[in-house]
Amino acid sequence: MDRVVLIKYGELTTKKGNRNYFIHVLYQNIEKKLKGLDVSISQDISRMYIEFQEENLELVLSRLNQVFGIHTYQVAYKIETDVDLIKEQIVSMMKEKTGTFKVVTKRSDKTFPIESTEFSRQMGSVLLKSNASLSVDVHQPDTTLTIEILKKYTYLYTDIYYGLGGYPVGTQPKGMLMLSGGIDSPVAGYLALKRGVKLEAVYFEAIPHTSIEARNKVIELCRKLTSFTDKIHLHVVPFTEIQETIYKECNPEYCITIMRRMMYRITERLSKKYKCLAIVNGESIGQVASQTLTSMSVINQVTSMPVIRPVACLDKLEIIDLAKKIDTYDISILPYEDCCTIFVPKHPVIHPVLEECLKEETKFDYEAMIERTVSNLQTIVIQEEEDSTFSNLL
Ligand code: ATP
Ligand code: MG
Repeated sequence: MDRVVLIKYGELTTKKGNRNYFIHVLYQNIEKKLKGLDVSISQDISRMYIEFQEENLELVLSRLNQVFGIHTYQVAYKIETDVDLIKEQIVSMMKEKTGTFKVVTKRSDKTFPIESTEFSRQMGSVLLKSNASLSVDVHQPDTTLTIEILKKYTYLYTDIYYGLGGYPVGTQPKGMLMLSGGIDSPVAGYLALKRGVKLEAVYFEAIPHTSIEARNKVIELCRKLTSFTDKIHLHVVPFTEIQETIYKECNPEYCITIMRRMMYRITERLSKKYKCLAIVNGESIGQVASQTLTSMSVINQVTSMPVIRPVACLDKLEIIDLAKKIDTYDISILPYEDCCTIFVPKHPVIHPVLEECLKEETKFDYEAMIERTVSNLQTIVIQEEEDSTFSNLL
């Protein structure tokens, strides 16, 4: 007996004008994700059908669980639309079941001669006769058997799985994710991907103050994100000179604020170069001194690009829950120092003033330093399997 995975799009269906485009992108993403698993995928306006090899079912389902844009999916028996075949199939599907059940019939083929509720009732009594351990409960059944009747084929299933929801990655242009080794930024990246935004990533490192292990940690976090999207270009920015100069020249209270303004400036430059329309980061309101609203607003002044902060309003525990769900938490808590944590001053300013920042920034020629920094950028293409590295000159 043939089984297929039925995929329902959910939120996509509200995107009237763009619907075909969204479905097209979802189709491509699913195709990429299931590559090598010997599946055949087809689609109509309301769903996708995946024919698979039985031995690959678990792999197919676990990969579909990493694709944004899928609302629900079911593993359904596919048979020809024929009442006797339907009866035979539902009896076989329900023969091991006990407890309560209900039958739901959905007829998209209105030429089918029996009306939906009546058909459900008839199939219910077939099941009651075939299996004495079953009884009907239409309100809170243990098992819901769904019969979807289309013109040529009928699909039958009992279990409904929830996909990740969201929009297919690539239905929005790119964003530049500021990716550190912490807990928050990978979660921010995941949430941006969920809205369909494709990502590139930027990581600021300050060797020798930060280690190669710290960089590897970021690479592994980035690799986790690639489960939900295609490969990601990770731009590694050598930040040592800028950071050391800030700590040598500037008022210690303002060092973090200035450092973050430099990060934003560089991220904006990279975003423009790589055609990213927004900056995405893991800032969360009030989490640390540099993330008070005053700090954010003063730091944000250096760019006119939209800055998306998906975890801005989440509590740390909520962010941690998500980090565990996407399997980045255990990597994030590895102990390697990040460039943000190595020079933390005793009393960072909580409510920085823009004029003070501007004054501090006259103490060194940051434009030239930024220029040098970005020209020494290294880009690593992160894939689920093997990475490749290239240096690129801006
Ligand atoms: P934690 O989870 O420990 O808070 P974090 O990565 O969120 O770690 P923060 O100091 O809170 O670190 O930084 C706020 C945001 O700034 C990060 O979420 C990240 O988007 C960005 N950021 C910080 N440090 C770096 C870095 N070294 N490279 C790239 N982005 C960074
Ligand atoms: Mg944080």
